[in-house]
Amino acid sequence: MMASNKLASFRLPPLPTIGEIIKLYNLRAQKQLSQNFLLDMRLTDKIVRHAGNLRNAHVCEVGPGPGGLTRSILSAGAADLLVVEKDTRFIPGLKLLTEAAPGRMRIVHGDILTYRMDRGFPTHVTRKWEDEPPNLHIIGNLPFNVSTPLIIKWLENMANRDGPFTFGRTQLTLTFQKEVAERLTASTGSRQRSRLSVMAQYLCTVTNCFTIPGRAFVPKPKVDVGVVHFTPLPQPQIQQPFKLVEKLVRNVFQFRRKRCHRGIEMLFPEARRLELTEAMMGKADVDPSLRPTHLSIGDFRALADAYARLCAENPGLIAYEFREELRQKRAGKGLREEEEEEEEE
Ligand code: SAM
Repeated sequence: MMASNKLASFRLPPLPTIGEIIKLYNLRAQKQLSQNFLLDMRLTDKIVRHAGNLRNAHVCEVGPGPGGLTRSILSAGAADLLVVEKDTRFIPGLKLLTEAAPGRMRIVHGDILTYRMDRGFPTHVTRKWEDEPPNLHIIGNLPFNVSTPLIIKWLENMANRDGPFTFGRTQLTLTFQKEVAERLTASTGSRQRSRLSVMAQYLCTVTNCFTIPGRAFVPKPKVDVGVVHFTPLPQPQIQQPFKLVEKLVRNVFQFRRKRCHRGIEMLFPEARRLELTEAMMGKADVDPSLRPTHLSIGDFRALADAYARLCAENPGLIAYEFREELRQKRAGKGLREEEEEEEEE
Protein backbone atom coordinates (compact mmCIF):
# COMPACT_ATOMS: atom_id res chain seq x y z
CA MET A 1 0.00 0.00 0.00
CA MET A 2 2.80 2.38 1.01
CA ALA A 3 4.71 1.64 -2.18
CA SER A 4 1.73 2.29 -4.45
CA ASN A 5 1.00 5.57 -2.60
CA LYS A 6 4.59 6.65 -3.18
CA LEU A 7 4.35 5.71 -6.83
CA ALA A 8 1.12 7.68 -7.15
CA SER A 9 2.83 10.80 -5.81
CA PHE A 10 5.24 10.79 -8.81
CA ARG A 11 2.35 10.78 -11.25
CA LEU A 12 1.77 14.15 -12.87
CA PRO A 13 -1.77 15.58 -12.91
CA PRO A 14 -3.49 15.73 -16.33
CA LEU A 15 -1.61 18.19 -18.54
CA PRO A 16 -1.92 19.35 -22.14
CA THR A 17 0.06 17.03 -24.45
CA ILE A 18 3.52 18.20 -25.65
CA GLY A 19 1.94 18.76 -29.07
CA GLU A 20 -0.68 21.02 -27.48
CA ILE A 21 2.02 22.88 -25.47
CA ILE A 22 3.90 23.53 -28.73
CA LYS A 23 0.72 24.97 -30.31
CA LEU A 24 -0.37 26.85 -27.17
CA TYR A 25 2.94 28.71 -26.80
CA ASN A 26 3.71 28.84 -30.53
CA LEU A 27 6.98 26.92 -30.05
CA ARG A 28 7.98 26.29 -33.65
CA ALA A 29 11.36 24.55 -33.77
CA GLN A 30 14.09 26.95 -34.87
CA LYS A 31 16.21 25.42 -37.60
CA GLN A 32 19.24 27.59 -36.81
CA LEU A 33 19.20 26.22 -33.23
CA SER A 34 18.87 22.62 -34.56
CA GLN A 35 15.76 22.07 -32.46
CA ASN A 36 14.16 18.64 -32.93
CA PHE A 37 11.54 17.61 -30.40
CA LEU A 38 10.63 14.18 -29.07
CA LEU A 39 6.87 13.94 -28.61
CA ASP A 40 6.58 10.16 -28.14
CA MET A 41 6.48 9.54 -24.39
CA ARG A 42 7.39 5.85 -24.87
CA LEU A 43 10.73 6.98 -26.28
CA THR A 44 11.36 9.63 -23.61
CA ASP A 45 10.48 7.00 -20.93
CA LYS A 46 12.95 4.61 -22.58
CA ILE A 47 15.78 7.21 -22.44
CA VAL A 48 15.02 7.76 -18.76
CA ARG A 49 15.03 4.00 -18.01
CA HIS A 50 18.55 3.83 -19.47
CA ALA A 51 19.67 6.58 -17.08
CA GLY A 52 19.03 4.21 -14.13
CA ASN A 53 16.79 4.39 -11.07
CA LEU A 54 15.72 8.02 -10.70
CA ARG A 55 13.53 7.58 -7.63
CA ASN A 56 14.39 10.45 -5.23
CA ALA A 57 17.29 11.41 -7.51
CA HIS A 58 18.75 14.82 -8.27
CA VAL A 59 18.74 15.34 -12.04
CA CYS A 60 20.02 18.03 -14.38
CA GLU A 61 18.20 18.02 -17.70
CA VAL A 62 19.96 19.95 -20.45
CA GLY A 63 17.79 21.58 -23.11
CA PRO A 64 14.29 20.56 -21.94
CA GLY A 65 12.55 22.49 -24.77
CA PRO A 66 8.80 21.79 -24.70
CA GLY A 67 9.34 19.29 -21.86
CA GLY A 68 8.65 15.73 -23.14
CA LEU A 69 11.77 14.19 -21.59
CA THR A 70 11.22 16.43 -18.54
CA ARG A 71 7.84 14.78 -17.90
CA SER A 72 9.39 11.30 -18.11
CA ILE A 73 12.10 12.30 -15.59
CA LEU A 74 9.47 13.60 -13.16
CA SER A 75 7.29 10.50 -13.67
CA ALA A 76 10.32 8.30 -12.88
CA GLY A 77 10.37 9.84 -9.41
CA ALA A 78 13.16 12.47 -9.52
CA ALA A 79 12.93 14.53 -6.32
CA ASP A 80 14.96 17.51 -7.55
CA LEU A 81 15.03 18.27 -11.27
CA LEU A 82 17.05 21.25 -12.48
CA VAL A 83 16.44 22.12 -16.13
CA VAL A 84 18.81 24.39 -18.08
CA GLU A 85 17.25 25.91 -21.21
CA LYS A 86 18.77 28.55 -23.46
CA ASP A 87 15.68 29.55 -25.46
CA THR A 88 13.30 31.82 -23.45
CA ARG A 89 10.28 30.75 -25.52
CA PHE A 90 10.17 27.45 -23.60
CA ILE A 91 10.10 28.95 -20.11
CA PRO A 92 6.28 29.47 -19.79
CA GLY A 93 5.57 25.84 -20.81
CA LEU A 94 8.19 24.61 -18.35
CA LYS A 95 6.61 26.76 -15.58
CA LEU A 96 3.40 24.79 -16.14
CA LEU A 97 5.38 21.64 -15.30
CA THR A 98 6.85 23.15 -12.10
CA GLU A 99 3.25 23.80 -10.97
CA ALA A 100 2.30 20.19 -11.77
CA ALA A 101 5.25 18.89 -9.69
CA PRO A 102 5.47 21.37 -6.82
CA GLY A 103 8.86 21.62 -5.10
CA ARG A 104 10.46 19.10 -7.49
CA MET A 105 11.58 21.21 -10.43
CA ARG A 106 13.78 24.30 -10.85
CA ILE A 107 14.22 26.22 -14.11
CA VAL A 108 17.46 27.92 -15.12
CA HIS A 109 17.37 30.12 -18.21
CA GLY A 110 20.98 29.80 -19.38
CA ASP A 111 23.58 28.15 -21.57
CA ILE A 112 24.74 24.70 -20.47
CA LEU A 113 28.19 25.38 -21.96
CA THR A 114 28.81 28.06 -19.31
CA TYR A 115 26.42 27.03 -16.51
CA ARG A 116 28.22 26.29 -13.18
CA MET A 117 26.68 22.92 -12.33
CA ASP A 118 28.96 22.57 -9.31
CA ARG A 119 26.78 25.27 -7.69
CA GLY A 120 23.48 23.76 -8.82
CA PHE A 121 23.07 20.98 -6.24
CA PRO A 122 23.44 20.71 -2.45
CA THR A 123 26.78 19.44 -1.11
CA HIS A 124 25.14 16.49 0.69
CA VAL A 125 24.70 14.87 -2.77
CA THR A 126 28.50 14.38 -2.92
CA ARG A 127 30.02 10.88 -2.78
CA LYS A 128 33.71 10.02 -2.62
CA TRP A 129 35.08 9.38 -6.11
CA GLU A 130 35.89 5.71 -5.40
CA ASP A 131 32.43 5.08 -3.88
CA GLU A 132 29.20 4.35 -5.73
CA PRO A 133 28.09 7.21 -8.06
CA PRO A 134 26.07 9.98 -6.35
CA ASN A 135 22.29 10.04 -6.79
CA LEU A 136 22.77 12.75 -9.41
CA HIS A 137 22.19 12.26 -13.13
CA ILE A 138 22.62 14.43 -16.19
CA ILE A 139 20.15 13.72 -18.97
CA GLY A 140 19.64 15.54 -22.24
CA ASN A 141 18.49 15.53 -25.82
CA LEU A 142 20.63 18.37 -27.12
CA PRO A 143 21.37 19.64 -30.63
CA PHE A 144 24.35 17.74 -32.10
CA ASN A 145 26.39 20.95 -32.45
CA VAL A 146 26.17 21.32 -28.65
CA SER A 147 26.36 17.69 -27.45
CA THR A 148 29.79 16.95 -28.98
CA PRO A 149 31.70 20.01 -27.60
CA LEU A 150 29.82 19.51 -24.33
CA ILE A 151 30.91 15.90 -23.88
CA ILE A 152 34.54 16.89 -24.60
CA LYS A 153 34.26 19.62 -21.94
CA TRP A 154 32.62 17.19 -19.48
CA LEU A 155 35.31 14.54 -20.12
CA GLU A 156 37.91 17.14 -19.11
CA ASN A 157 35.80 18.01 -16.02
CA MET A 158 35.66 14.28 -15.24
CA ALA A 159 39.46 13.94 -15.47
CA ASN A 160 39.86 16.97 -13.17
CA ARG A 161 36.91 15.98 -10.93
CA ASP A 162 35.38 19.43 -11.20
CA GLY A 163 32.17 20.89 -12.74
CA PRO A 164 29.39 18.25 -12.51
CA PHE A 165 31.97 15.80 -11.10
CA THR A 166 32.65 17.76 -7.89
CA PHE A 167 29.78 15.57 -6.61
CA GLY A 168 31.58 12.30 -7.52
CA ARG A 169 31.09 9.98 -10.47
CA THR A 170 27.94 11.67 -11.86
CA GLN A 171 26.35 9.58 -14.62
CA LEU A 172 25.32 11.02 -17.98
CA THR A 173 22.67 9.93 -20.49
CA LEU A 174 22.85 12.00 -23.67
CA THR A 175 21.82 11.87 -27.32
CA PHE A 176 24.25 12.18 -30.23
CA GLN A 177 24.14 11.81 -33.96
CA LYS A 178 24.16 8.01 -34.46
CA GLU A 179 27.65 8.04 -36.04
CA VAL A 180 29.07 9.99 -33.08
CA ALA A 181 27.42 7.53 -30.65
CA GLU A 182 29.15 4.72 -32.57
CA ARG A 183 32.52 6.48 -32.36
CA LEU A 184 32.14 7.07 -28.63
CA THR A 185 31.63 3.35 -28.02
CA ALA A 186 33.81 1.85 -30.81
CA SER A 187 36.15 -0.94 -29.70
CA THR A 188 39.80 -1.45 -30.71
CA GLY A 189 40.10 -2.40 -34.38
CA SER A 190 36.63 -1.27 -35.43
CA ARG A 191 36.08 1.06 -38.35
CA GLN A 192 34.55 3.76 -36.13
CA ARG A 193 37.45 3.78 -33.64
CA SER A 194 38.52 7.43 -33.28
CA ARG A 195 39.82 10.16 -30.98
CA LEU A 196 36.43 10.31 -29.23
CA SER A 197 36.45 6.53 -28.51
CA VAL A 198 39.78 6.72 -26.69
CA MET A 199 39.02 9.97 -24.83
CA ALA A 200 35.66 8.67 -23.56
CA GLN A 201 36.73 5.10 -22.81
CA TYR A 202 39.88 5.87 -20.81
CA LEU A 203 37.67 7.81 -18.38
CA CYS A 204 34.28 6.03 -18.43
CA THR A 205 32.27 2.96 -19.08
CA VAL A 206 30.41 4.01 -22.22
CA THR A 207 27.29 2.23 -23.51
CA ASN A 208 25.47 2.83 -26.77
CA CYS A 209 21.97 2.17 -25.36
CA PHE A 210 19.73 2.31 -28.44
CA THR A 211 19.09 4.19 -31.67
CA ILE A 212 16.14 6.50 -32.26
CA PRO A 213 15.20 6.84 -35.94
CA GLY A 214 15.21 10.42 -37.21
CA ARG A 215 11.51 10.12 -38.10
CA ALA A 216 10.64 10.02 -34.36
CA PHE A 217 11.59 13.72 -34.04
CA VAL A 218 9.62 16.82 -35.00
CA PRO A 219 10.86 18.24 -37.30
CA LYS A 220 12.67 15.17 -38.62
CA PRO A 221 16.49 15.58 -38.69
CA LYS A 222 18.51 14.15 -41.63
CA VAL A 223 20.20 11.60 -39.33
CA ASP A 224 19.34 8.97 -36.71
CA VAL A 225 20.11 9.50 -33.06
CA GLY A 226 22.05 7.37 -30.56
CA VAL A 227 21.41 7.42 -26.80
CA VAL A 228 24.68 7.01 -24.90
CA HIS A 229 25.21 6.36 -21.18
CA PHE A 230 28.47 7.27 -19.40
CA THR A 231 29.60 6.18 -15.92
CA PRO A 232 32.99 7.62 -14.88
CA LEU A 233 35.48 4.92 -13.87
CA PRO A 234 36.70 4.82 -10.25
CA GLN A 235 40.26 4.78 -11.66
CA PRO A 236 40.93 6.34 -15.14
CA GLN A 237 42.72 3.91 -17.41
CA ILE A 238 45.38 6.52 -18.22
CA GLN A 239 46.87 8.37 -15.27
CA GLN A 240 48.25 11.45 -17.05
CA PRO A 241 46.88 15.02 -17.33
CA PHE A 242 43.86 15.30 -19.67
CA LYS A 243 45.59 17.87 -21.90
CA LEU A 244 48.58 15.56 -22.43
CA VAL A 245 46.33 12.60 -23.31
CA GLU A 246 44.22 14.78 -25.60
CA LYS A 247 47.33 16.03 -27.45
CA LEU A 248 48.69 12.52 -27.89
CA VAL A 249 45.39 11.04 -29.12
CA ARG A 250 44.74 13.99 -31.47
CA ASN A 251 48.20 13.64 -33.03
CA VAL A 252 47.92 9.87 -33.43
CA PHE A 253 44.50 10.01 -35.12
CA GLN A 254 45.31 12.81 -37.53
CA PHE A 255 46.81 10.18 -39.82
CA ARG A 256 44.22 7.51 -39.09
CA ARG A 257 44.96 5.43 -42.20
CA LYS A 258 48.75 5.48 -41.72
CA ARG A 259 50.87 3.53 -39.22
CA CYS A 260 50.67 5.01 -35.72
CA HIS A 261 54.29 6.21 -35.58
CA ARG A 262 53.42 8.74 -38.32
CA GLY A 263 51.15 10.75 -35.99
CA ILE A 264 53.44 10.24 -33.01
CA GLU A 265 56.34 11.81 -34.94
CA MET A 266 54.37 15.04 -35.07
CA LEU A 267 54.64 15.40 -31.27
CA PHE A 268 58.30 16.31 -31.73
CA PRO A 269 60.22 19.24 -33.35
CA GLU A 270 61.53 18.36 -36.80
CA ALA A 271 65.19 18.51 -35.73
CA ARG A 272 64.73 15.70 -33.15
CA ARG A 273 61.72 13.91 -34.64
CA LEU A 274 63.26 10.52 -35.46
CA GLU A 275 65.35 10.29 -32.30
CA LEU A 276 62.46 11.14 -29.95
CA THR A 277 59.88 9.01 -31.80
CA GLU A 278 62.20 6.01 -31.51
CA ALA A 279 62.76 6.73 -27.81
CA MET A 280 58.99 7.01 -27.22
CA MET A 281 58.09 3.81 -29.10
CA GLY A 282 60.88 1.98 -27.27
CA LYS A 283 59.78 3.19 -23.82
CA ALA A 284 56.12 2.39 -24.58
CA ASP A 285 56.87 -0.96 -26.23
CA VAL A 286 54.06 -0.42 -28.76
CA ASP A 287 54.30 -1.80 -32.29
CA PRO A 288 54.89 1.32 -34.49
CA SER A 289 53.36 -0.41 -37.51
CA LEU A 290 49.88 -0.64 -35.94
CA ARG A 291 47.17 1.64 -37.37
CA PRO A 292 45.72 4.17 -34.87
CA THR A 293 42.37 2.32 -34.94
CA HIS A 294 44.15 -0.84 -33.72
CA LEU A 295 45.72 0.71 -30.62
CA SER A 296 44.05 -0.40 -27.37
CA ILE A 297 43.52 1.84 -24.34
CA GLY A 298 46.48 -0.06 -22.78
CA ASP A 299 48.65 0.98 -25.76
CA PHE A 300 47.56 4.60 -25.33
CA ARG A 301 48.36 4.36 -21.59
CA ALA A 302 51.90 3.14 -22.39
CA LEU A 303 52.32 5.89 -25.02
CA ALA A 304 51.01 8.60 -22.66
CA ASP A 305 53.37 7.46 -19.87
CA ALA A 306 56.33 7.43 -22.29
CA TYR A 307 55.42 10.86 -23.68
CA ALA A 308 55.05 12.27 -20.14
CA ARG A 309 58.56 11.01 -19.27
CA LEU A 310 60.02 12.58 -22.43
CA CYS A 311 58.26 15.86 -21.60
CA ALA A 312 59.75 15.80 -18.10
CA GLU A 313 63.23 15.23 -19.59
CA ASN A 314 62.84 17.85 -22.37
CA PRO A 315 61.51 21.19 -21.07
CA GLY A 316 59.26 22.94 -23.58
CA LEU A 317 58.30 19.72 -25.39
CA ILE A 318 54.74 19.62 -24.01
CA ALA A 319 54.05 23.05 -25.58
CA TYR A 320 55.36 22.01 -29.03
CA GLU A 321 52.76 22.08 -31.84
CA PHE A 322 53.95 20.92 -35.25
CA ARG A 323 51.40 23.12 -37.03
CA GLU A 324 53.03 26.16 -35.44
CA GLU A 325 56.50 25.05 -36.63
CA LEU A 326 55.08 24.39 -40.11
CA ARG A 327 53.43 27.82 -40.20
CA GLN A 328 56.67 29.56 -39.22
CA LYS A 329 58.64 27.60 -41.81
CA ARG A 330 56.13 28.47 -44.54
CA ALA A 331 56.06 32.12 -43.51
CA GLY A 332 59.88 32.14 -43.73
CA LYS A 333 59.78 30.70 -47.26
CA GLY A 334 56.76 32.80 -48.25
CA LEU A 335 54.77 29.66 -49.06
CA ARG A 336 50.99 29.30 -49.09
CA GLU A 337 49.50 27.17 -46.34
CA GLU A 338 48.11 23.93 -47.65
CA GLU A 339 46.49 20.99 -45.92
CA GLU A 340 48.65 17.90 -45.86
CA GLU A 341 46.95 16.00 -43.05
CA GLU A 342 44.13 13.57 -43.29
CA GLU A 343 41.24 14.84 -41.23
CA GLU A 344 39.77 12.39 -38.77
CA GLU A 345 36.29 13.71 -38.02
N1 SAM B 1 14.60 17.98 -24.83
C1 SAM B 1 13.62 18.39 -25.80
C2 SAM B 1 13.06 17.19 -26.51
O1 SAM B 1 13.64 16.12 -26.39
O2 SAM B 1 12.03 17.33 -27.19
C3 SAM B 1 14.20 19.40 -26.80
C4 SAM B 1 15.29 18.88 -27.66
S1 SAM B 1 16.00 20.01 -28.79
C5 SAM B 1 16.96 18.91 -29.79
C6 SAM B 1 17.32 20.78 -27.91
C7 SAM B 1 16.94 21.77 -26.83
O3 SAM B 1 18.15 22.26 -26.26
C8 SAM B 1 16.18 22.98 -27.30
O4 SAM B 1 15.16 23.28 -26.40
C9 SAM B 1 17.24 24.10 -27.31
O5 SAM B 1 16.69 25.39 -27.12
C10 SAM B 1 18.09 23.67 -26.13
N2 SAM B 1 19.48 24.17 -26.18
C11 SAM B 1 20.26 24.31 -27.28
N3 SAM B 1 21.48 24.75 -26.95
C12 SAM B 1 21.47 24.88 -25.61
C13 SAM B 1 22.46 25.31 -24.67
N4 SAM B 1 23.67 25.67 -25.07
N5 SAM B 1 22.13 25.34 -23.35
C14 SAM B 1 20.88 24.97 -22.95
N6 SAM B 1 19.91 24.56 -23.80
C15 SAM B 1 20.20 24.52 -25.10
